[in-house]
Amino acid sequence: MTDTIEAPVAAVTQERKIVTAVPGPRSQELHARRLAVVPPGVGAALPIYVAKAAGAILVDVDGNQFIDLGAGIGVTTVGHAEEHVVAAAAAQLQDVIHTLFTVTPYEEYVRVAELLAEKTPGDFAKRTVLVNSGAEAVENGVKIARKHTGRSGVAVLDHAYHGRTNLTMAMNYKAMPYGAGFGPLGGSVHRAPNSYPYHDGLSGAEAAARTIGYLEKTVGAADLACLVVEPIQGEGGFVVPAEGYLPALQEWCTENGIVFIADEIQSGMARTGRWFASEHFGLVPDMVLSAKGIAGGLPLAGVTGRAEIMDSAQPGGLGGTFGGNPVAAAAAIAVFEQIDAGNLLAEADRIERVLKSRLGALQERHEIIGDIRGIGAMVAIELVKPGTSETTREPNPDAVNALVAHAAAHGVLILNAGTYGNVLRFLPSLAATDALLNDALDVLEEGFAALDRA
Ligand SMILES: *Cc1c(COP(=O)(O)O)cnc(C)c1O
Repeated sequence: MTDTIEAPVAAVTQERKIVTAVPGPRSQELHARRLAVVPPGVGAALPIYVAKAAGAILVDVDGNQFIDLGAGIGVTTVGHAEEHVVAAAAAQLQDVIHTLFTVTPYEEYVRVAELLAEKTPGDFAKRTVLVNSGAEAVENGVKIARKHTGRSGVAVLDHAYHGRTNLTMAMNYKAMPYGAGFGPLGGSVHRAPNSYPYHDGLSGAEAAARTIGYLEKTVGAADLACLVVEPIQGEGGFVVPAEGYLPALQEWCTENGIVFIADEIQSGMARTGRWFASEHFGLVPDMVLSAKGIAGGLPLAGVTGRAEIMDSAQPGGLGGTFGGNPVAAAAAIAVFEQIDAGNLLAEADRIERVLKSRLGALQERHEIIGDIRGIGAMVAIELVKPGTSETTREPNPDAVNALVAHAAAHGVLILNAGTYGNVLRFLPSLAATDALLNDALDVLEEGFAALDRA
C-alpha cells in the first residue's frame, strides 16, 4: 500500500489571482526557450507556463492563477489533479508501469473495458480496444469497420474534427491548419452536410434527408464502411444537431449495413450530464470512441463496439506498445468511480444552468451573441457581426479574439472554436464551483462592455 497522498487541491486556492502582466516575465522567458526548440506548428493559445493545477485553477510560473474554462480541451473533466485519480495513478506507478497488454496482460485494462461496456449506450455484448489518443481511436474505429464490412468508404460531416493523423486529417472539415500541405491524405473519405440549426434552419428530418441524399448520390451506401459523427461537434463549435437528425442517420446506417460510429472523444465521459452525449439523442451507436476526459489527464483512449464488429479484426491486428498503459488505465478506473461517487453527472447539469442563465442575460444586451448552445458543461456562444442579417449571420472572429485576450489578461482561460473561429466555448471541469463560474462570467461581461466602448 502507498502512503497517504496529500490532496493537491488543498495546496491551490480555488480563486483567480493576477499578480503580473500576462504572460508574466518567467513565462516569457520560458516561451523564448520554447521557440528555439519547438516548431511553430505546435500552437500556443495562451503562452502562460503552468507550474501547478488543481480543481478548476491553473497556477503559472509567475504565480498568476487562472480560472480554467478549457480543462485541457475537455480532459480534466473531474478536475485537475483530482485526488482519487492521483492516488490511483501513484499506487499503480509503484506496482506496474508497463508490460504491454498484448504480451503480458494486467487487470486494469480489462476493468476499463468492463466499465466502458457498462457505461456506453446499448445492452449487448461489447468489446473495447484501448489506445493512446483520440485520433488513434478514430483510426482504429475506421479500420475495424472496414474489416467488418469489407468496404472502404468513410463518411463524415461538415464542421467535423477527428484528429491530426493521416487518416483523421482527411476526415476534418478544416484544411487550415489541420491538413493543408500535409498530404497525400488518407483516401475514401466522403464529407456530407451536417445539421447546423442556427445556420441551416432545417428540421432534423430535413437535415438528415439532405445528408443521406448527398451520401447516396456521391458515394452510395453500399460502398460505405462507416459514418463517423460527433453527437455534439467539438472543434466545429459545439454544434448541437436538430432533434431527430442523428437517429435518422443511425437508422439509415443500420438499414444499409454501415457501421455507425459516435466520436464521443470530447462529448463523452460525463461532459454533458450523461455518461455519453449519444444518450441525449436516443442513439445506440455500433461503436463509441472515448478519449479526452477518460483518465483525468493521462493519455488513454478507447474504441468500444458491438462484439461481432470488434471481433472481425484478426488477432495481432489491433494494439500498440503503450495502448491501455497500466497507470493511465488505473487513473481511468478512478475517473469512472468518481463520476458516480461525486455525482458528477448532476454537476454538469448545474454548470449548464449557471452558464446558460448568465449568457442568456448577456445576449439580451449584446446583439453580437447570435446563438447560445450546448449541453451540460459543454456550452458555447457564436458571435456574429453587429447588424448581420438573419440569412448571412456573418462570423465575428475579431470579437472572439478580443474576448479571449481580455479574459486571459484578467485570469480566465476561455477557448475559441468553430470553423470560422467565431465561437467561444465553455468547457470547464465539473469541479468548477458556481462562485468560480460567476467570477469568470463577470470578467467576460466586462470584456463585452469593453468591446462596446471600442
Ligand atoms: C480531440 C478530438 C479528437 C482527437 O483526439 P486527440 O487525442 O487529440 O488525438 C478526435 N475527435 C474529437 C471529437 C475530438 O474532440
